[in-house]
Amino acid sequence: MVDIADIEKSALGPVYPPSPRVVAEAHVKSMEEYRKMYDRSINDPVAFWGDIAKQFYWKGAPEGRVFDYNFSKSNGRIFIKFMEGIKTNVCYNVIDRNIENGLGDNVAFYWEGNEPGDDSKVTYSELKRRVCQFANVLKAKGVKKGDHVAIYMPMILELPIAVLACARIGAPHSVVFGGFSAESLVDRILDSKCCLLVTADGLYRGKKLIELKSIADQAFQILKDRNYSLKCCIVVRHLLEDLDKKGPQEPPKRPSNIGWNEELDCWWHEEVANVSDECEPEWLDAEDPLFLLYTSGSTGKPKGVVHTQAGYLLYAATTFKYSFDYHHGDVYFCTADVGWITGHSYVVYGPLANGAPSIVFEGLPVYPDAGRYWDIVDKYKVSKFYTAPTAIRSLMRFGPDYVKKYSRKTLKVLGSVGEPLNPEAWRFYYEVIGNGECSISDTFWQTETGGHVLTPLPGCTPMKPGSVCFPFFGIKPVVLNEDGNEVQGQSEGYLAISQAWPSTMRTVYGDHERYENTYFGKFDGYYCTGDGCFRDKDGYFWITGRIDDCINVSGHLTSTAQVESALIEHDLVAEAAVVSYPHEIKGQCLYAFLTLIKGAEFSDEVVVQLKQQVRQKIGSIAVPDYIQDAPGLPKTRSGKIMRRVLRKIARNDHQLGDISTMADSSIIETLFQLRPASL
Ligand code: ATP
Ligand code: MG
Repeated sequence: MVDIADIEKSALGPVYPPSPRVVAEAHVKSMEEYRKMYDRSINDPVAFWGDIAKQFYWKGAPEGRVFDYNFSKSNGRIFIKFMEGIKTNVCYNVIDRNIENGLGDNVAFYWEGNEPGDDSKVTYSELKRRVCQFANVLKAKGVKKGDHVAIYMPMILELPIAVLACARIGAPHSVVFGGFSAESLVDRILDSKCCLLVTADGLYRGKKLIELKSIADQAFQILKDRNYSLKCCIVVRHLLEDLDKKGPQEPPKRPSNIGWNEELDCWWHEEVANVSDECEPEWLDAEDPLFLLYTSGSTGKPKGVVHTQAGYLLYAATTFKYSFDYHHGDVYFCTADVGWITGHSYVVYGPLANGAPSIVFEGLPVYPDAGRYWDIVDKYKVSKFYTAPTAIRSLMRFGPDYVKKYSRKTLKVLGSVGEPLNPEAWRFYYEVIGNGECSISDTFWQTETGGHVLTPLPGCTPMKPGSVCFPFFGIKPVVLNEDGNEVQGQSEGYLAISQAWPSTMRTVYGDHERYENTYFGKFDGYYCTGDGCFRDKDGYFWITGRIDDCINVSGHLTSTAQVESALIEHDLVAEAAVVSYPHEIKGQCLYAFLTLIKGAEFSDEVVVQLKQQVRQKIGSIAVPDYIQDAPGLPKTRSGKIMRRVLRKIARNDHQLGDISTMADSSIIETLFQLRPASL
C-alpha cells in the first residue's frame, strides 16, 4: 500500500508526549503498564475480560468455554462465542446498575438542539423510567424478544431511549441514519426484516427542514407495493411539540404536512402516557443479538453487521474507559449520529456503561456558525471530545478565529474516527483546538469491530501525528503480505487481526456466507479489515487507505492517505482525494481531486505548486498526473470520501454503482464538468 522509504519520513517526524493534564490522573500511566495489561489481554483473554465482567451484572455462570471462536474457513464455519450460556441484559447494565451504584440523580444525557438555547437533560433515574415506558409501549404493540425494530430518528433523547428500550426487551434494533432516503430506509427494513418503525415528525439540520415522517410515509408506500407490512409506526412529536410550546415562529418551525395513517401511525407521547414506567428486563443469552447496523457503504453495498450482548457491552465499556481515559466528573461529547456505530458505542452504550454523562447533539458543526462545537464545549464544560476528520477539516477551512473565540479550557482528550487524520489536520486539532494541552486519540475501528482496534491511550502513549499508534486490549493486529504471510517489524501490508476479541461482529445478517467471504476469505485464519497499514520501526501503526483504493504506479504501491496528506499541507487546500487512473506506461497513475479553502481560486499555478509539494514531500513517483478542482467531494452520510465514485468520475464513467449512502449527489455533475481539459 505504501512505499516504506516514503512514509518513513513522516514516521520519523516529531513525537508528542501525552498531555500532562491527562497523565496526572490516567488509568494507565506508562507504556510499561499498558504493555503488561495488553500482554495479559492477549495471552489470557478469559481472565482479562473476566475481571472486567465482574463490574457488570450476570445471571448464572457460563457453561462450557467462556471464549470460543474459529477464524479459519478451512476448519469449518466461522464463529465467535463469548460467555455463551450466561444471562444478562445490556439495558439493565447501563442504566439500573448505575442507579444501584448511587448515580440515579446524575445526568445520563444532555440534549443540545439544532438551535442554540434549545436544550434539556435526563438523569439516570428518569432515563430508566422513560426507557421502561417505551419498552412497555413496544410490548403493547406486539414486539417480542427476537423481533427487529427499525429506528429512523433525529438526534433527540427519544433516539437513545428507543434504542435502550429495544435492548431491555431483547428486540434487536436497527438504527437507520435520519438523513437516508425513503428507498434506503426500505432497503434496510426489508433486509433486516423489521416489524415496527420508530420515527419523528421532522427535524431541522441547520436551516434545512427534513420532513422525516413524510419520508417514512413514502417508505411505507414502497413497502406496501412490495407486500411488506409493519405492525405500526410510532412518531415522536418533535418539531410540532416546539410549536405547541412556543407558538408559530418565523420561519415556521414545523413540517408542512404530517400524513397520518390511522391504522399504522401513533404518537409516542400518547402511547407512553398509557403504560407503566416499570419493565422487568428480558434476561438474554450473552450471545443473543443486541443490534444490527449497516456499514457506511464506502466500498460497496452496505453490510448488515450483527453484534451480540456480553462481548459488545464489555468491549464498548472498556474502550470508552481507556481510550478517552474517562473519570467520574468528566463531561463527554461525541458528535457522531446514533445512526452510525460511533453513535452506538460512544454516544449510547460505552458512556452509559461507565455512568458517564454524554451529549446528544442534534445540530451541525457550522450552524449557526463554525464555532458551534466549541460553544457546546464551554457550555457543558466538556473534557472528552470525539469527532471525525471530515468535521475537523471542514472547520479548518473556516480558520482558527471561530475556535479561539471560546475558552475550551476544560478539554483534555480529543478523539478522532472515521478516516485517516492527516498530520495537517492532526496539528490543527492538537495546536489550535486543543491549545497544545490535550492528548489526541486517533481511533481506528469499524462497524464490524464494535469498538476501538488501534488507538493511543491518552495518559501514556507518545503520539505521532497521523498514526493510530497501538492495539487496544484484546486486539492482536498483524501485517500480512500479498501471500497472506505475517511480516514482522517495520513493514507494510494488509491490516488483519489474528485472534477474536469480545465484540468481533458475529455475522452479516441473513448472509453468513458473505460474512465468511468478506472478512475471512482473503487470508485463512485472519479477520481482514480491508484497510492497508504500515508499521514503523517503533511499532506504531499507520492506516494507509483501503485495500480497494490501493494504487500501483510503475510497480510501486502508493498510499492514497499519504499523498492526500501531502496535498492538504498546502495552505490553499482544504481536502484532497486521490484515486487511480489508467496510464499507458506506468500501468496506473494518480488522479487527485482537490477542494480549496473558502475564497481560494483553482489555477494552473496551484497545480504546479501542488505537484512540486508532493515531489518534495514524498518523491516523484507519488506526483499526480491529473489534478482537478473539486468544490465538494462525494461522501457517505457518515462523512467518508467515496473514492470508488471518484474513480468513475476520473474515467468519465457515469455508471456509478450503489450510491444510496451518498450524502449529496448534486456535486457529481459539477465534478464531471470540471475534469481536466487534457483528458
Ligand atoms: P463499507 O464497509 O460499507 O465500505 P465503511 O468501511 O466506510 O463502509 P465503517 O464501518 O463506518 O464503514 O467505517 C470503517 C472504516 O473507516 C475503516 O475500515 C477505515 O477504512 C476507516 N477508518 C475508521 N477509523 C479510522 C482511522 N482512525 N484512521 C483511518 N481510517 C479509519
Ligand atoms: Mg468497511
